[in-house]
Amino acid sequence: MTGLVIVGHGTRSAAGVDQFAALVERVRRRGDVADVEGGFIELSRPPLTDAVGALVARGHRKLVALPLVLTGAGHGKGDIPAAMGREQQRHPGLTYRYGRPLGPHPLLHTALEERIDAALAGADRAGTALAGADRAGTALAGADRAGTWVALIGRGSTDPDANAEVAKVARLLWEGRGYAGVEPGFISLAQPSVPEVLDRLRRLGARRIVVAPYFLFAGVLPDRIVAQSAEFAAAHPDLDVRVAEVIGDCDALADLVLERHAEALGGDIRMNCDTCVYRVLMPGFADKVGRPQRPHDHPDDPVGHHHHGHAHHGHDHHGHDHGSVAVVGGGPGPDDLITVRAKAVLDAADVVVVDRLAPQGLLAGLRPDVLVIDAAKVPRGPSMAQDAINAALVSHAKAGRRVVRLKGGDPYVFGRGHEEVQACAAAGVPVTVVPGVSSALAAPALAGVPVTHRGVAHEVTVVSGHLPPGHPDSLVDWAALARARGTVVLLMAVDTIAKIAAVLVEHGRAPETPVLAVQDAGLPGQRSVPARLDEIGAVAAREGIGPPAVFVLGPVVALAATGPSA
Ligand code: SAH
Repeated sequence: MTGLVIVGHGTRSAAGVDQFAALVERVRRRGDVADVEGGFIELSRPPLTDAVGALVARGHRKLVALPLVLTGAGHGKGDIPAAMGREQQRHPGLTYRYGRPLGPHPLLHTALEERIDAALAGADRAGTALAGADRAGTALAGADRAGTWVALIGRGSTDPDANAEVAKVARLLWEGRGYAGVEPGFISLAQPSVPEVLDRLRRLGARRIVVAPYFLFAGVLPDRIVAQSAEFAAAHPDLDVRVAEVIGDCDALADLVLERHAEALGGDIRMNCDTCVYRVLMPGFADKVGRPQRPHDHPDDPVGHHHHGHAHHGHDHHGHDHGSVAVVGGGPGPDDLITVRAKAVLDAADVVVVDRLAPQGLLAGLRPDVLVIDAAKVPRGPSMAQDAINAALVSHAKAGRRVVRLKGGDPYVFGRGHEEVQACAAAGVPVTVVPGVSSALAAPALAGVPVTHRGVAHEVTVVSGHLPPGHPDSLVDWAALARARGTVVLLMAVDTIAKIAAVLVEHGRAPETPVLAVQDAGLPGQRSVPARLDEIGAVAAREGIGPPAVFVLGPVVALAATGPSA
């Protein structure tokens, strides 16, 4: 036996809660479904957990969960499934089929049409006549659609697919019904706003406008539609502006709920995923692709540990993004040696501060509105430059932006990554690190050299060659490296390789130790030049080896001959 749980978002409006309860009761009275409960994921009672609990208590282990939402946005796609997931943890063995959002179903268009006609007739169920109130009864006997423009007002969403659906409903409502026109607008989070769409209609020559809320039930947002329409009407006494009632508890809605229930049981339930921001990269919404969904905490729900601020956040608050910095390793240079995580973080960035050795090709794929800062062009002097970079990271993050510091290779391998992390942390900016594929290991590999190999090398030492041996600031024990037998990878050593090689030989490395210079690893110009340790300085100079290049030395270099084919 399958129970039906009808899931609402919840509202601060008592009238809205009553309408929801009345609809649940109406569906129950139909008798088509054996057992029906309704619950909310936040703000209102009963909470979803009570509704599911009641069905489970009556022996149900299989449910149909029907999101009572018009469009598939955050609540339907994320919050309600997440809340149901929590119920499944509470009730082991509980399974459920998830129904589709209600819209854009013809039953809804018909219901909207009736609400609009009621507003036109004046003797409506609840249609609020505003500026034209005194004229309504006389001038307008019944519906006069040809002279009527409709502003269809949806809740508005950060999900463009949901907003697009309101536009679609507006079109479908207009087709064949004889209104002068139907234009979509939004009460929150999306444009055009109610005053904007009303003004648009006025400029098109509208004299009579019905504002039709595309809402199931009463609530804070429908009230706001009435208030904004009234304000517009007051400012334009020449216009006849009326507001239609919300769809509300009615037989058509119960029919639709039962149809969605039957679909869920029948199995062929598909949301429109073609333009879903969680699945498809759409301009301006790259950060949503693959983003995990988290359930709302219900204030009355004991499982929700952190109850953060529902009391003061309205319906139109979801997921404020705060500024942050991610110090990201981009790999050795090509577009496709970056990690999946690094790519996702990059795609979500508002600001990218990029190094010369980072994968430049990926910059072309950023949204056009992303600010790209070339760190190589930051003003003078190495330490100055670092301060300026740190300051840029901190200030953009503090302005609320998602900042990616995109570096070559791994950010912690001679990349100054931790200095930037420290600067952000000191400034109180949230900061994360995304490791990368370091050229220290990748460049030898791309040239066919395994930095370790069983029976050949049990150690690999990555060394910066930016300071020559003997330099007072050098922290490298070159003599110890000369005595060691394993692999040495030198970075930033193009200018110092001759001196380094000489010191290694001087302290005991065999002069015939094979060395491979690998330049531009992973990039179209990749090349490698082999030489003996005692000749590498001269050979690299003669061959014109230039940065970026690594030198890998040790017995593993001989293995390149037996390496990969390309
Ligand atoms: N964080 C980086 C290294 C920064 S230091 C990493 O993990 O790869 C810069 C040095 O890295 C260069 O001087 C060069 O030695 C090396 N390097 C970076 N990219 C390289 C590439 N594509 N080919 C060869 N060497 C590279």
